[in-house]
Amino acid sequence: MKKKRLVLLGAPGVGKGTQAKELEKHLSLTHISSGDMLREAVRSQSRLGLRVQEYLIKGDLVPDELMMSLVAERLKTKECAGGFVLDGYPRTVNQARALDEILIKRNLRLTDVVLLEISRREVIRRLSMRYTCDACGKIIKSEENEEGQKCPNCGNRLKRRSDDEPQTIEHRLDVYEELTRPLIEFYQETGIMHQVNGMGTVRQVFQRILTALNLKKPET
Ligand SMILES: [Zn+2]
Repeated sequence: MKKKRLVLLGAPGVGKGTQAKELEKHLSLTHISSGDMLREAVRSQSRLGLRVQEYLIKGDLVPDELMMSLVAERLKTKECAGGFVLDGYPRTVNQARALDEILIKRNLRLTDVVLLEISRREVIRRLSMRYTCDACGKIIKSEENEEGQKCPNCGNRLKRRSDDEPQTIEHRLDVYEELTRPLIEFYQETGIMHQVNGMGTVRQVFQRILTALNLKKPET
């Protein structure tokens, strides 16, 4: 199989993380999640990690050049040589251009960009089903109202994340759409972008991604 170097795009709640894990499991691609990468950098207390920490502590966005250094470091690793799926990066056209440059220096380029799409109503429905435990960080997805219920992990009370309140979700989506539109247009012009319907089960969506990538369903 030809090595795949993918970017997964889509609104919050669309299931990028879940599908990236499927791609990792079935196609042996390395899953690079921007969130995990930042957390790992901080944990490692490396030179870059310490700089990341300064921003995260203040609640500020990590600047492009720092993010780019992290991505470049990660893409150099042996495990990424077999192909990768980026989830949560790039978020802007500048980052997308920077990513291209990182790859070109290594004589590589992205093979595909997958844009997962679900309706705005479904995004709101999915995000408002998330409850978290402040004590242990567990996230529960539930159609029932779990506010104030006990965390199955540690017994602390669950709460709805403040940024998952319906009004906040609407706002987050507006911001997301405004920021991402240019990025989507950028990738549309490259001719490697596939728009994939993100509604349905994890398996259904994964199957659609494989079809878009011209891959057969892997043996399980
Ligand atoms: Zn807990």
